Amino acid sequence: MSPGRVTLVGAGPGDPDLLTIKAARAIAQASLLLVDDLVGDAIVALASPGARIVYVGKRGGCRSTPQAFIEKLMLTAARDGETVVRLKGGDPFIFGRGGEEVEHLRAAGIEVDVVNGITAGLAGATAIGVPLTHRDHAQGVVFITGHAKRGGTPTDWRALAATARDAHLTLVIYMGVAGVQQLQDGLLTGLPAHTAVAVVQNASLPDQRSCVTELGQLSATMAREQIASPAILVVGEVARSAALAQSMREQAAAMSVSA
Ligand code: SAH
Repeated sequence: MSPGRVTLVGAGPGDPDLLTIKAARAIAQASLLLVDDLVGDAIVALASPGARIVYVGKRGGCRSTPQAFIEKLMLTAARDGETVVRLKGGDPFIFGRGGEEVEHLRAAGIEVDVVNGITAGLAGATAIGVPLTHRDHAQGVVFITGHAKRGGTPTDWRALAATARDAHLTLVIYMGVAGVQQLQDGLLTGLPAHTAVAVVQNASLPDQRSCVTELGQLSATMAREQIASPAILVVGEVARSAALAQSMREQAAAMSVSA
C-alpha cells in the first residue's frame, strides 16, 4: 500500500469564514483529522461524514494529548494509507509546533504539506481596527510568545523593548495572559509606561472581547477586565487606533439609540 500523506492545516483564529479555500478542501478530503483545542466545531463540521475525528487538545480528555503520541498517531495513520489532516488553530507555523511535526514526519519518510491559516495576532489586530504596520508609527512587527518552552530560553523582554523602541516595531504577544506582570515589567525597562497596548480575547469569535490600555496599566487592566486566554496583546503606537475605532463605534451606537 502506498503511504498516505499528512497535511498540517491552519484553521485560522476561529471564524470559519476566515479559513482559506485550500484549508476547507483539505479538511473535506481527510480520512483522519487530529484536531487541536482552539479549532471550533463549525470548522470540524466541514469534514466528510466518513472521516475519523480525534481531539488531541484538552477537550479530548483531561489534559492535552502528549506531543509524542500525536506524532506517532500521524505516522502510523499515514503508513496505513490514510489522508491525515492535522488541524491547528491560526497558522501551523506560528507557535503551533508545526515545525517540530514536519521534521518528525519527514525524518520518517512521510510526505507533509502545510496549509497556511490566518494567525491570531493578525486576525485579532484587524478585528479591532489596528494595522500592525503603519508608515508613520511602525516599520515592522514581531510575533513573540509570552510563554517560552519549559526549560527553554526565557524571552529577553528588556532587549525586545529596546529593539521595538529603536526600530519602531509593533509587538504582538501570544500566550501572554499568565505571565503578563513579568512581561509588563520587562517591557517597561525599554518602553515608556504610556505605550499603547490593545488586548483581544477570542478574536474573530462571537464572544470576542477587547480592551485598550497603556503598558504601565496592562496587568491591572487585564485583571479588572477579566481577560482570559486565548488572547493576544498588541504593543505599540498602532494600538491607539483601536481606541479610536472603539470610540467611533460607541458614538455610532449612541447616535442610533438617540435617532
Ligand atoms: N498557531 C496559532 C497560535 C497557537 S499558540 C496561531 O497562529 O494563531 C496559542 C495562542 O494563540 C493563545 O495563547 C493566544 O495568544 C493566541 N490565540 C489563538 N487563538 C486566538 C484567538 N481567537 N483570539 C486571541 N488569541 C488567540
